[in-house]
Amino acid sequence: AMKRSGKNGVQFYDPAMNAEAQARLRLETRLRLAISEETLSVHYQPQVDVATGTLVGLEALVRWIDVELGVVSPAEFIPVAEDTGMIVALGSWVLDEACRQAAEWQLGVPMAVNVSPHQLIRADFVDVVRGVLRRHALAPHLLKLEITERLSLGDPGRAAQHLAGVERLGVRLSLDDFGSGQSALASLMALPLHEVKLDRTLLAGVTDDPQSWQVVAALLALARGLNLPVVVEGVETGAQLDALRALGYCSVQGYFTGRPQAPAALAAILGHAAS
Ligand code: C2E
Ligand code: MG
Ligand code: MG
Ligand code: MG
Repeated sequence: AMKRSGKNGVQFYDPAMNAEAQARLRLETRLRLAISEETLSVHYQPQVDVATGTLVGLEALVRWIDVELGVVSPAEFIPVAEDTGMIVALGSWVLDEACRQAAEWQLGVPMAVNVSPHQLIRADFVDVVRGVLRRHALAPHLLKLEITERLSLGDPGRAAQHLAGVERLGVRLSLDDFGSGQSALASLMALPLHEVKLDRTLLAGVTDDPQSWQVVAALLALARGLNLPVVVEGVETGAQLDALRALGYCSVQGYFTGRPQAPAALAAILGHAAS
């Protein structure tokens, strides 16, 4: 639309705004297509016991390579999916695919799937989870849902009710991004949790800054006191791993012990037939 702009007269558009809005619209359009045509994929990252080095779980992480846009990071498109409501369809698809893969691999360790608050507050949430477990004949304790308080959608009571519902099914619940400021201490007591994941930002200074180290050590002690297993995210170096091993009582998930990988690549490492 045209608008008046100073003494030079008519400005036809705001060039900066327009470029941004167009890029955003393009992303939305491409993402909608990717979801409906099921061209997204899922990569899996190992979670490893710090004491024994054994596999204790996998996290499913959605991946998108668009023919026009190239590789788009979840950090970019998940927020768009949440703003537009597409996260519900995207999230159901990832949940289904990750459970299918878990049932196929039969690793005997839980498959962790991220769940957006938008999915969680839907009336059919518990039914969706029950349905997916049934469809793939996956034992409930082999599914772990990672929840976060990134968004507060105004109905914590309903969210808590749905979490209690899936917990009754036997599904495990994990509090993601703990310590990032997005997940509150209060949730540790209020929610039926089976695990806490320390946000990777906490780990950055752990090997050279005594204060960062104290924070991580204190959070691990807190979790131990509450009998909650901890997964420490973002372990990138052997030094970080050694430091955590000295404290014990945690699992790690990070580039040092294994990047998120396509199913075939991971299956090869795990010694299973590639699929
Ligand atoms: P998250 O759930 O906290 O997942 C962990 C993120 O940390 C992943 O980023 C993973 O690739 C990255 N990461 C793991 N180890 C390391 C490390 O050692 N160093 C560094 N720098 N990063 C590491 P990714 O895959 O880009 O996902 C980003 C976020 O997007 C996730 O954070 C999660 O919040 C969201 N997300 C990803 N997949 C899904 C999904 O299927 N559904 C929903 N709702 N959210 C998802
Ligand atoms: Mg996660
Ligand atoms: Mg996390
Ligand atoms: Mg995180």
